[in-house]
Amino acid sequence: MESEQPTLHTVAIIVPIYNEEEVVERFHLALCRVIDLLPYDFTIYYVNDGSTDRTQEIIAHLAHDDKRVSVVELSRNFGHQAALTAGLDIAEGEVVISLDGDGQHPPELIPQMIELYQGGYDIIHTQRIDAQSSFSLKRFTSGTFYWLINTIGYTKVMPGCADFRLMSRETVNTLKKMPEYHRFLRGMIPWMGYRSIILPYQAPERLGGQSKYSMKKMIKLAMDAIFSFSLTPLRIGITVGIIFFFLAILEIVYVLSFWLRGQQASLAPGWSSLMFVILIVGGTLMVNLGFIGIYLGYIFQEVKRRPIYIIRSSPNHPMPSSELPETEADQSSRANTGNKKNANTTPKLD
Ligand code: UDP
Ligand code: MG
Repeated sequence: MESEQPTLHTVAIIVPIYNEEEVVERFHLALCRVIDLLPYDFTIYYVNDGSTDRTQEIIAHLAHDDKRVSVVELSRNFGHQAALTAGLDIAEGEVVISLDGDGQHPPELIPQMIELYQGGYDIIHTQRIDAQSSFSLKRFTSGTFYWLINTIGYTKVMPGCADFRLMSRETVNTLKKMPEYHRFLRGMIPWMGYRSIILPYQAPERLGGQSKYSMKKMIKLAMDAIFSFSLTPLRIGITVGIIFFFLAILEIVYVLSFWLRGQQASLAPGWSSLMFVILIVGGTLMVNLGFIGIYLGYIFQEVKRRPIYIIRSSPNHPMPSSELPETEADQSSRANTGNKKNANTTPKLD
C-alpha cells in the first residue's frame, strides 16, 4: 500500500508556449473551467518561449485579469524542454503539473492526477492512447524513436508519455539538481525513480494552429535522448572494429594456406576485393569518428555550463531592469549592494 501524501494546499501549473496566439486564450478558459472547481490555491505559469507573435501580449492580459496567472518570458526560443525547465525552476507549489498550451493535454485529467498524488504517488505520468490507427508520419517517426531509445537506452521511456505530468515538490527539487544541458525530461524523470503511476488518456486535436515541433526540433530532441541516455553508438563502433579484426585474421590464415602449399603464384592481386575492404574499413572508421565527435560535442556543451534558458522577465523579475525607470530606491540600493543588474535573470545551475 502507498502511504498517503500530506494535505495539499498549493498547486503550480506550468504551460510552455511558443507562438500560440490562436489558442492560448481558449486553453486558459478550458483550464479555468477545471481548476475553478478544485479547492486548492493554483498558480499558472505561462512560460513564453520567445514567441514572435502576440502570445506575450495575450498572456500579459490574462495575468492582468486573473491573479493566478504568472508570466515567465524567455529571452528567445530555447525549445520546449528548456521552457519546461524554466517553469519547473520558478514554480512554487506543493505539486507541479506541466502541460502543453495547445489543448492536446486535456486539463480535465488534473483532478484525477491530484487524487492519485493524494493516494501516495510522487509522479503521475500520462500516456497518450491513439484512437486512430491510420498512418501518419509523426506517429511513425515517434514510434521508431521510442523503439530505438528503449532498445539502446538505459532508462525505459514509455511511448506516448509526453511532458504532461504531475510532480511532487520533493521530485521537482531532485530534478533541479540535474542541471544537464541536453535535456530529455521524459527520460530524466523516470530515471529518478520515486513512486509513479501512468494515467492513460485520449489526446484531442490541437485547439488551433500548427505543431510548433518542427522536424529539426524533433531530431534535436531525439538526438538529446539517444546521446545522453545511451552509450550504445560508441559500442557499435567497438563491435564492428572487433569483427573487422577477426576478418583480418581469417584473411591472414587464408593467404598463409596458399604460401604453405606453395601456391602463392595463384594469389592474383584483386583490385575489387581490396577496394571493398578499404571502403568498408574507411566507412566504419568515419562512422566511429562521427559518434565520438557527437559525444565530444555534447561534453563540450556540458562543460561550458551555459544556462539552459535565459529569463527576460518573470514574476520575481517583472521586466528587464534596463527597461524600468530607475527610482530613487533603486539608486540607493545600487549604491549599497553594487550593480547587480539582472542578478536573477539567469537560473542557478547547481
Ligand atoms: N513549444 C515551446 N517551444 C518550442 C516548441 C513548442 O514552448 O520551441 C510549446 C508549444 O507551444 C506547446 C508545447 O510546447 O504548448 C508542445 O508543442 P507542440 O504542440 O507544437 O508539439 P506537438 O504536440 O506537435 O508534439
Ligand atoms: Mg501539441
